[in-house]
Formats: sequence, C-alpha cells, structure tokens
Amino acid sequence: MTASISGTARVAGVAGSPIAHSLSPMIHNAWLNAAGLDGAYVPFAPSPAGFEAFIQGLRGGVITGLNITLPFKEAALALADAPTPAAQAAGAANLLLFAQDGTIIADNTDGIGLLAAFGEQAPGFDPTTAPVVILGAGGAARGAAAAFLAAGAPQVRVLNRTLARAESLAEALGSRVSPLPLSDAARALDGAGAVINATSAGLSDTGGFEVPLEATGADCVVMDMVYKPLVTPFLATAQALDRRTVDGLAMLIGQARPAFAAFFGQPPPAGVDVRALALKSLGQNERT
Ligand code: NDP
Repeated sequence: MTASISGTARVAGVAGSPIAHSLSPMIHNAWLNAAGLDGAYVPFAPSPAGFEAFIQGLRGGVITGLNITLPFKEAALALADAPTPAAQAAGAANLLLFAQDGTIIADNTDGIGLLAAFGEQAPGFDPTTAPVVILGAGGAARGAAAAFLAAGAPQVRVLNRTLARAESLAEALGSRVSPLPLSDAARALDGAGAVINATSAGLSDTGGFEVPLEATGADCVVMDMVYKPLVTPFLATAQALDRRTVDGLAMLIGQARPAFAAFFGQPPPAGVDVRALALKSLGQNERT
C-alpha cells in the first residue's frame, strides 16, 4: 500500500551532504506506507555554505522536522533555540523539529539508537557493570559516550588518533570519561564490557588502524557504527574471537524510531521489516 499525500500531508526529511546514500527516506516511507499515514519523508542536500539559510527558511513549521546527518550535526545544534539535554550532552543534533511559533527544537536520538541496538543484538548486556571503550572522538563518539554515561557506565575510555580531541570530549562530559591515545588500546580493552568503533576509518585488515581485540574478555560486546559492509572487518575479527557483536544498521534503525514519532505523531507501525529492506538496498545479506 502507498501512503496518500494530500494537501494537508505532514512532511519531514533528512538533510546532509552528500545525501544520496541515505537509508532514512526508505525506512521512514516504509513506515508511513504501512501505517497509511498522509505524509512524506524526503532527502535534502543543502550546500554547506547554504545550510543556515536553508534551516532558517523552515522556521514556522513549513515541514515538521528534519533528521540531520554529516556534516551538519554540530551546525544544526548551534542554530536551534531549544536543545534537549541529549543534544546538549552529545554536542550535536541529529533531529530538528520546527514548531509553529518559529522555535527550532534540537534533539539527538543517536544515543537511544545505540542502546536499542545493544538491547536487540546483545540481550542482557548491562552497561553499569564494566567500563566502555569508544574508539574515536568525533560527534558520534561524543553522543555514544553521553548515552553510556546516562545509562550508568562506571567509566568511558575514549581512544582517539588525535588525543587532544579525546581530552576535550572528556572535559565536556566529566570525570567518568578517560581520554587515551590509540596506542593504549590493549590496556584500555582489558576488562571492558563493550568496545565501539565510532571512527570513520576502516579498521583492521582493510588498511585502517589495528585494534587488538584479543585483549577483550570473552563477555565483551563489540560494536561498529559503520554498516557498509554490515559485517565490517572489525566485527568479523570480533566474531572470529567468539565475541558478541552489534552492527551499525541496528543503531540507524534504533535512532529512526523516536524520530518518526516526533515527526508524525505516532510510533512506527509494527510488522514492517525495515532491516530487511535496508539490507536489500545495501546489497547485503543478513550476517550468517
Ligand atoms: P567525525 O568526522 O566527527 O569523526 C571521525 C572520527 O574518526 C575521529 O575521531 C577521527 O580521528 C577518526 N578517524 C578518521 N580517520 C581515522 C584514521 N585513519 N585512523 C584513526 N582514526 C580516524 O565523524 P562522526 O563522529 O560523525 O561519525 C563517525 C562514524 O560513525 C562515521 O562512519 C558515521 O557514518 C558513523 N555513524 C553511524 C551512525 C549509525 O546510526 N550507524 C550514526 C552516527 C555516525 P581524529 O579526531 O584523529 O581525526
């Protein structure tokens, strides 16, 4: 069934540059269609120089809201009038809502998506029992660190190529965050409950940097935010070591659920296998 789009349709979308690769239109429109809602979700690719004018022009509720992706997440937060605590803690917005009175609300649902992905693919994982290791110190890493701190992680070890960036992340998020250089990975992984790749680099045998996953304990859960390919070399190494793994596609779908509810006023309908649709669109099979 295809959703009708009338003159009173609710419109939302995603803004990024580039945007053509985004799976978000496919995910949200599949939910809209299944729910039979009068609405649409469309991609926008404003130029980096034109991003601010693009967002200011949407004040007043021309569209209900936007997901925000690279490279605009920090700029989106800076343009908003009313950031949620999650957006402030992450230092970035992946969601803007345009209120009728002209106010722009900034939120961040990446942390919800990350924890939902762990809940789905590593059932029983308890973030409160052991330190969490995050590789990277960019926007995604900061959001992940904030989410795990909010979930009660006793310590978050942030390892980054540029140590100064990990140090400023720790300064922003407080004393439970320990900044470390990548060269300390083996020490940092010792005793960790989870390790998350939040860098944009390939890891392990693709020419990216090496992470000694053998230093993790048998119960450590390994997650990669990258989902192309679904089983990254990082996750493949973890699976070869018999570690439980969580993939970036589960996070992407997990962050989309609360965004859909914010845009269209109701949660996504049950019974739509958006993961299967996303995998088909990526030309990937379920990990077997
Ligand atoms: P940023 O550009 O803000 O940060 C990139 C990070 O990767 C930095 O820490 C950078 O280190 C590190 N890095 C890049 N190249 C290398 C390298 N060759 N060796 C070591 N470290 C490297 O990106 P984001 O934080 O926004 O995103 C990170 C990744 O997470 C992206 O791949 C993004 O697609 C993914 N992501 C996935 C989501 C999902 O739903 N699955 C949601 C959000 C993000 P340095 O500081 O030294 O430059």
